[in-house]
Amino acid sequence: MAAPPQELKICTGCGRQISVHVNACPYCGKMQAAPGPSYGAPPPPPAYGAPPPAYGPAPGQEMRVCVGCGRQIPAHYNACPYCGRSATGAPQGESMGALKYVLYILSFLFWPLGIIIGIVFMISNEPEKKQVGKMCIILAILSVVLYVVCYFFIFAAIFGGMMGI
Ligand SMILES: [Zn+2]
Ligand SMILES: [Zn+2]
Repeated sequence: MAAPPQELKICTGCGRQISVHVNACPYCGKMQAAPGPSYGAPPPPPAYGAPPPAYGPAPGQEMRVCVGCGRQIPAHYNACPYCGRSATGAPQGESMGALKYVLYILSFLFWPLGIIIGIVFMISNEPEKKQVGKMCIILAILSVVLYVVCYFFIFAAIFGGMMGI
């Protein structure tokens, strides 16, 4: 059960041997300059039988669906060979997704919560979380300032009314 012969090249990202036909290194996700045929083009017809496609399911190989492009790729790959999407899901910089906007809104509506979220995130090691934490604290402070201004006007109106101004 030997693997079908493949043309191999060295990944410019991690130096491992990869198929010349992939768009991105399956190990490190680095997009490859494409000297070979792209995946859009059908591979040249083989002279013998019908060997499995380079990235089709091989016997005993677990497949998964790429979250980036939806194609089937071997489960052990770290990155999709078609689109370069990493196996862990979202590319860097989007790991918080919509959650950070929810946190921003919460920070603004309930400023004590914003301060707590901010502090918790600021002590995190992830730069993105630090950034979100900073934003939460800024929004919380902004919220406090708005509260104070609002109360000032409300009290001014009440006292102004009581004193008959
Ligand atoms: Zn690589
Ligand atoms: Zn993909």
